[in-house]
Amino acid sequence: MIVANWKMNGTRQSVTEWIDSVSGNIDIDNINPCIFCPPACYLEHARKLIEKHNNRIKLGSQIINGTNYDKPLTGGISAKMLKDVGAEYVIIGHSEQRDFLGKINNNFLTEDVEKALSENLKIIFCVGEDFQSKENSETYLCLGEQLDALGQLHSTHENKLRSITVAYEPIWAIGSGLNAEKDYIEETHEFIKKYINDHLGWSQLDIYPAVLYGGSVNLDNCEEIISSTDVDGLLIGGASLNSETFSKIYNLS
Ligand code: PEP
Repeated sequence: MIVANWKMNGTRQSVTEWIDSVSGNIDIDNINPCIFCPPACYLEHARKLIEKHNNRIKLGSQIINGTNYDKPLTGGISAKMLKDVGAEYVIIGHSEQRDFLGKINNNFLTEDVEKALSENLKIIFCVGEDFQSKENSETYLCLGEQLDALGQLHSTHENKLRSITVAYEPIWAIGSGLNAEKDYIEETHEFIKKYINDHLGWSQLDIYPAVLYGGSVNLDNCEEIISSTDVDGLLIGGASLNSETFSKIYNLS
């Protein structure tokens, strides 16, 4: 799975150009899905273009408001709304959302995941340590705590856990131009998979989620990163904005 996370970038025009260009440059198969996550205000526009091209690009939202359903929420976007505009995926727990919107509490994230699953949205659940945790050798502690948000899912959602993909995104690597080294990526991905299997107990349900890597992926490093053991795909921010770069990365992975 290769995910383009546009963050707070783009216009209707650039969304149109990107979809036109990517549609002509990549041949998407079911084995390696291509997920386009523009800002929420462009989802509907993107959906129409994808329909026009009749290609297999899937749409993802960068945001969901799963909490406070019983209260008014100015600016909120619900799982139902995302489904309604044609999103199939939603990114939950991105470090920028955790920071800027104060989503540091696992309970909020668990609720977001539950609401998304109730609407049959697929989830890209982000985890990653900050620089200080890495320096203090607390990466696994940090990742374990974040992954516990998935361990709190209500048992009624058990049959939908297959809709969850995890993205490992070391915060210090996001947007910094400094991707994690291959060895480090392999070790952390192995830890994440083991934690989900053993600690969250998903292996007993025969569920083994894919784990993507994100953090300064570019044309030069994508091949090495995707060839790393236990890396099942890429979540790409900055480098996804350029349709040609993104298409090349997709085709190399
Ligand atoms: C991201 O937005 O999740 C990300 C990984 O960004 P970048 O590729 O720019 O580091």
